[in-house]
Amino acid sequence: MKDTNCAYCMRGELLDKFGIFVCDLEVSSLILFKEQSKRGRCIVAYKDHVSEIVNISDSERDAFFKDVNRAAKAIHKIFAPDKLNYGMYGDTGCHLHMHLCPKYSGGDEWGGIFQMNPQKTYLEDAEYQKMIDDLKKELGK
Ligand SMILES: [Zn+2]
Repeated sequence: MKDTNCAYCMRGELLDKFGIFVCDLEVSSLILFKEQSKRGRCIVAYKDHVSEIVNISDSERDAFFKDVNRAAKAIHKIFAPDKLNYGMYGDTGCHLHMHLCPKYSGGDEWGGIFQMNPQKTYLEDAEYQKMIDDLKKELGK
């Protein structure tokens, strides 16, 4: 079940607008968020185009949170944030996904709610690739 207008279903140029595919996890995929004002920000997107956490089975939900936990551990290890923020929205996207947004003490939006896309910090391709390589290595991919 894919939605042809959905970046998480279709990837390609729809995903290119804001993210870079890193690797598949058990029931989801890991995506590096291009806007990097919070260094290490990623998205874990569920494998199917479902809107709500209540739309999947208990075992699928558990597997999804296991994937989130794996990604979070990798982000903590590589980027050493002071806090990892988690956000699930999708009012318009309707594809189950979670933002994993590292926060750094005194840094961008510390102590507040992270913006969906502040459009402040973009990296060179080589910097994204280094992050992707580090994440894949940490995840055994
Ligand atoms: Zn989708």
